[in-house]
Amino acid sequence: MKKDIDWKNLGFGYIKTDYRYVSNFKDGKWDEGELSTEDMITMSECACVLQYAQTCFEGLKAYTTVDGRTVCFRPDLNAERMIQSCERLEMPVFPKERFIDAVLKTVKANVDFVPPYGTGATLYLRPYMFGSDAIIGVKPAHEYQFRLFCTPVGPYFKGGTEAITLRVPDFDRAAPHGTGHVKAGLNYAMSLHAIVDAHNQGYSENMYLDSATRTNVEETGGANIIFVTKDNKVVTPKSTTILPSITRRSLLYVAEHYLGLQVEERVIPYEEIKDFRECALCGTAAVLSPVGKIVNHGEEVTYKYENGTGEITQKLYETLTGIQMGRLEAPEGWIYEIK
Ligand SMILES: *Cc1c(COP(=O)(O)O)cnc(C)c1O
Repeated sequence: MKKDIDWKNLGFGYIKTDYRYVSNFKDGKWDEGELSTEDMITMSECACVLQYAQTCFEGLKAYTTVDGRTVCFRPDLNAERMIQSCERLEMPVFPKERFIDAVLKTVKANVDFVPPYGTGATLYLRPYMFGSDAIIGVKPAHEYQFRLFCTPVGPYFKGGTEAITLRVPDFDRAAPHGTGHVKAGLNYAMSLHAIVDAHNQGYSENMYLDSATRTNVEETGGANIIFVTKDNKVVTPKSTTILPSITRRSLLYVAEHYLGLQVEERVIPYEEIKDFRECALCGTAAVLSPVGKIVNHGEEVTYKYENGTGEITQKLYETLTGIQMGRLEAPEGWIYEIK
């Protein structure tokens, strides 16, 4: 039986669920792993994660489909991206097959927390890993924990699908040859000041430029960016310091193969954004959020939408969520059913 939760009014917050998956790495190998009811973690005061932020994470969702199945979306890509994060952070890799198995087991164990179809809510899954043994000299840990919990969530941005305003900050997100392309906790620690400052000044998010030249569009603190040109091409920044969003990769596929649009992944000079007709943020948490305005030190670029969101943005949103919720046929391998 589904839990007694006010699904329609959920925010994007943490609610403790019944089970999480835990596996420990020690003496050079992962243990078998298991579901646990224990939500608290005990570790050394000198744990590598606490001293040197040796941690990375992933984010994906499970849904109830229109015909009542429980599914999740492309967990194989999250598994692969986490492997890349772990390699960059000198952490042991959690094997892809085991990652997917952990996702399916955790959703199944918490199936009563998967929001019903049509509520607008979803089950957000948070896999992560951290160095857990005592490390005082700067070096990688020897022991690690892989953990995966889930929490039911509503919309990421308050106000649902209203177009948001971004600002171009004086802060950078990612250095060339740094860690911008991996989902390392450290990227988010250092973005907190920038996001608090943006919120204090009335903006929803920061739109970062490339830190080397401050001339090209990169992404926000937690989402990639897509634009639509006046002739309906979907364009997105290409850069080695952007996090490779699974939502963005899926949207580009949908644009090309479901909507018959041209797509381009290329360098996007900031100077060009005034020429586009639509702009939106994309990521698992918010799927696709229309951007209405971008402010750069007093200079504004605005996007005008008739119904709160761009026409192509809306089509992309409907098609991708249609695939996720089982209203549209999915490309082979995108949907994993939890039985
Ligand atoms: C997680 C994340 C995204 C979105 O990736 P998805 O796989 O689509 O959820 C985009 N940018 C940053 C910086 C992120 O951390």
